[in-house]
Amino acid sequence: MNHEQSRALYDRALSVMPGGVNSSVRAVRPYPFFVQKGDGGHVVDADGNRYIDFVMGYGPLLLGHDMPEQVQSAVQQRAAEGPMYGAPTEVEVELAEFVTRHVPSVEMVRFVNSGTEATVSAVRLARGYTGRDKIVVMQSGYHGAQESTLVEGEGDHTHPSSPGIPESFAEHTLTVPFNDPDAARDVFDEHGDDIAAVLTEPILGNYGIVHPVDGYHETLRGLCNDHGSLLIFDEVITGFRVGGLQCAQGKFDIEPDITTFGKIVGGGFPVGAIGGKSEIIEQFTPAGDVFQSGTFSGHPVTMAAGLETLRYAAEHDVYDHVNGLGERMRSGLQDILEEQAPEYTVVGTDSMFKVVFTRDGPDTFEGHCEAGCQQRPECPRYDHCPKDGGDVKQAETERWERLFWPAMKERGVFLTANQFESQFICDAHTAEDVDDALEAYKEAI
Ligand SMILES: *Cc1c(COP(=O)(O)O)cnc(C)c1O
Repeated sequence: MNHEQSRALYDRALSVMPGGVNSSVRAVRPYPFFVQKGDGGHVVDADGNRYIDFVMGYGPLLLGHDMPEQVQSAVQQRAAEGPMYGAPTEVEVELAEFVTRHVPSVEMVRFVNSGTEATVSAVRLARGYTGRDKIVVMQSGYHGAQESTLVEGEGDHTHPSSPGIPESFAEHTLTVPFNDPDAARDVFDEHGDDIAAVLTEPILGNYGIVHPVDGYHETLRGLCNDHGSLLIFDEVITGFRVGGLQCAQGKFDIEPDITTFGKIVGGGFPVGAIGGKSEIIEQFTPAGDVFQSGTFSGHPVTMAAGLETLRYAAEHDVYDHVNGLGERMRSGLQDILEEQAPEYTVVGTDSMFKVVFTRDGPDTFEGHCEAGCQQRPECPRYDHCPKDGGDVKQAETERWERLFWPAMKERGVFLTANQFESQFICDAHTAEDVDDALEAYKEAI
C-alpha cells in the first residue's frame, strides 16, 4: 500500500497541531492515514486505498458513511435554513420525545455537544441534587476528557491521571474495579453518606469491552438505593447500539437515575445528552439551580441528523442486521482463535466486537460463551476472560498494536488502533465484508 499523501499531510499536520491530530487516539504509529471519504461500510484514504471500516468514527456511525435519503435531506434542509439560532427549534423537542419514548429510565433530556460535556454535567447534577461531593467510578472506565474522572489509583487512594488536574479533584473520586461487588460494598461502607453517585458504563466499552458479571449492576443499584446515591449509566457508547433503541439499560433491565448519551444520538454530528427522571433533570437551570448552558446545545443540524438516524433505525431492521453481523463476526473469530490462538478472548455484544490478546486460557472452546464473552460462570473460560480493565491491560497490548493492527491495515481492514477500543458493525456492512475481514484476521493473528 502506498501512503505518500497521508505521510505528506501528517508532516504538515505536525507543524500546526499537537501530535498532528485533534484527538489523541488518532495518532497511529508511525503516522495515521488521512481519510479522503467514506463509502458505506468502507473508507478511502488520501492515497486511494480502500478499507473495510470497523472504527465507524469510534462509535457514532450506526448506519455507516452513507446517510439514507431521509437523514441527508433533513441535514441539508437544516443547514440551508441557517445552521443555528440561539432560540429553540421543534426538532430538539422531537428528538427529546423520541429518546424519552424509547429509553426506559428517561423522562427528560438536556442536549449538549459531546459525551464529555454530558458526563461533566451529569456529575455536577448528581452533586447538586444530593448535596454530596464524592463519586465512584470504575478503574479503566472512560467518561471523556473530564477532571473528575481522569483519575487512577484504588479506592480512596486516587490521584489525577493527567498533568494539569489539581489533586483536589481526585480527592472526590473513588475508584473500584468493574465487576467486583465486594469492592463496591467496601467503598459504600466507608463513604456511603458522602457519595453523590456511582458513574459507570454498563459495559466497559473503551477498555477491551468487558461484559458485566451476573448481578453486578443490581449490586450497584442496591447500594445506591440504600445510601441515597444516584446511579449514572454512561451510555455514550452503548446508547442506541447495545439493546437497540432501549439502550443497554433496557437490555440489562436496570433503571439508572441519570443516563448520559453521545455518539449515535447525534447521527454523526457533535452531541451529548443527559437524561433521567424529571425530578432530577429539572434541577438543571433554568428549571432548577444546577448551572448548565451551551451556545451550540441542541444544534438543529445535529438534532435533525440524530432524529432521522434513529427514526430510520426504528423503521428498518437496522439492529437485526448489525447484531446479526456482530454475531457472525464474533463466532467466526472464535473459530479462528480455536485453531490459531486459543488463549485469546473474543469479547463484545450486539454490534460491538474485539479480540483481546489474553495470555492464557483453556486450549479448547468447548462449552464456551458463544459469539463473545458473556461472563457465564459455567463457561470453562470464565476464570480467564477479562473481568475488569486491569485484566485487559495484562493482555499482549504491544503485539496487538505493533504487529496485529498494521497487518490488518495492510489487508484493508481498519480497526481502532489499540487493544482497548471497540470495533463496530454498521448497517452498511454486509456478510461479505465480515467474511473478508475474517480472512484477514486468519492471516494476521
Ligand atoms: C466516547 C465516550 C465519552 C466521551 O465522549 P466525547 O464525545 O468523545 O466527549 C464518554 N463516555 C463514554 C462511555 C464514551 O464512549
